[in-house]
Amino acid sequence: MISLQSLTNPKLTPVSFRPRKPLKKPRSLTINSLLQYNRKPELAGETPRVVVITSGKGGVGKTTTTANIGLSLARLGFSAVAIDADVGLRNLDLLLGLENRVNYTVVEVLNGDCRLDQALVRDKRWSNFELLCISKPRSKLPLGFGGKALTWLVEALKAREEGAPDFILIDCPAGIDAGFITAITPANEAVLVTTPDITSLRDADRVTGLLECDGIRDIKMIVNRVRTDMIKGEDMMSVLDVQEMLGLPLLGVIPEDSEVIRSTNRGYPLVLNKPPALAGLAFEQAAWRLVEQDSMKAVMVEEEPKRRGFFSFFGG
Ligand code: ADP
Ligand code: MG
Repeated sequence: MISLQSLTNPKLTPVSFRPRKPLKKPRSLTINSLLQYNRKPELAGETPRVVVITSGKGGVGKTTTTANIGLSLARLGFSAVAIDADVGLRNLDLLLGLENRVNYTVVEVLNGDCRLDQALVRDKRWSNFELLCISKPRSKLPLGFGGKALTWLVEALKAREEGAPDFILIDCPAGIDAGFITAITPANEAVLVTTPDITSLRDADRVTGLLECDGIRDIKMIVNRVRTDMIKGEDMMSVLDVQEMLGLPLLGVIPEDSEVIRSTNRGYPLVLNKPPALAGLAFEQAAWRLVEQDSMKAVMVEEEPKRRGFFSFFGG
C-alpha cells in the first residue's frame, strides 16, 4: 500500500515539473460574473480551429469536455464538428445521445462505401454541431489509420461544399501511444483536461511535453472535478497549485457535480440543462474563453488554501 510518507519523500517521487510561471491572481466566482456574458463572443484565430482534447490519464473528463464545449460552441452560434478519435472505447456518441444515428463511420468513408457527409451525424438539438466517429464500437484502430488519415479527414472537412466548420474538436484516447499520436497530428491547439490529483497531473505534464514536441504550443488547461470543500480542508490541491505545477493558462475550472454523471447517463450534455447546473455554466465559460482565446478571463471557484502542503508531494 502506498503510504503518505512514501509520497512526501522526494527520493521516492521523482516527478519534475516545469518551472513555475508567475500567475495573475484569479478573481473569485460570483453568479453575476457568470452571467455577464450577454453578447456573442468574437472568434479569434484562423478557422477552422482544430483543437485536440487530451489528458494522458483516462477517466478525467475528456469526452465530457468535448461534448459540453462542442454544444456550447454551437449554442454560441459557431459551427463545430467533434471527431471521436477514441477508437477502441468510443463513447462520445453516447454522451451526446446520438448513438442510434451513427450509420456510417470514417472507416466506410475511407473504403469508399459512403460519402463524408453521410458519416457526419447532425445533432438533433443544434444543427450546427456534428459528430464523426472513426469506427464502429469495440473495433480496433483500423489498419493504416494514423495521423495522415486524420489530417486527410480534417482537410476534407475544410473543403466541404457548405464551408469549413469554425471548430474541429478531436476527442483523444487516453495514453500516449499510437491513438494519441494520431489524434494530435492534425491539431494546432490543445485543451488539456486534468483533475487535481497527482496521477492525473503527472500524466498531464508528460502529455504537455509531447504536445510541445509535436509543435502544439497553444495548450490550455481545464481542471475538472474540483471540490472546494476538500480544497478548504486541504485534502485536495487548489487550482492555483495545479496551475503553478503545469504552468498552463487556465481555460476552465469544472466542479465535481453529480449532474455530470446524470447527464452522461441520459445522453443529454449538461450545458443544455435548464436551469443550468454549476458544472454546465463552467463548461459554457470555458467554451467562451476558447472562442476568444482569452484565458485570463477565467473565473475561479475557490479560495487560496492557508497551507501549501501538497507541494511536498513533488519534493517542492
Ligand atoms: P475520459 O473521456 O477522460 O475517459 P469521461 O469524460 O468519459 O472521461 O468521464 C469519466 C467519468 O467521469 C464519467 O462517468 C463522467 O460522468 C464523470 N465525470 C466527468 N467530469 C465530472 C464532474 N465534473 N463531476 C462528476 N463526474 C464527472
Ligand atoms: Mg473518453
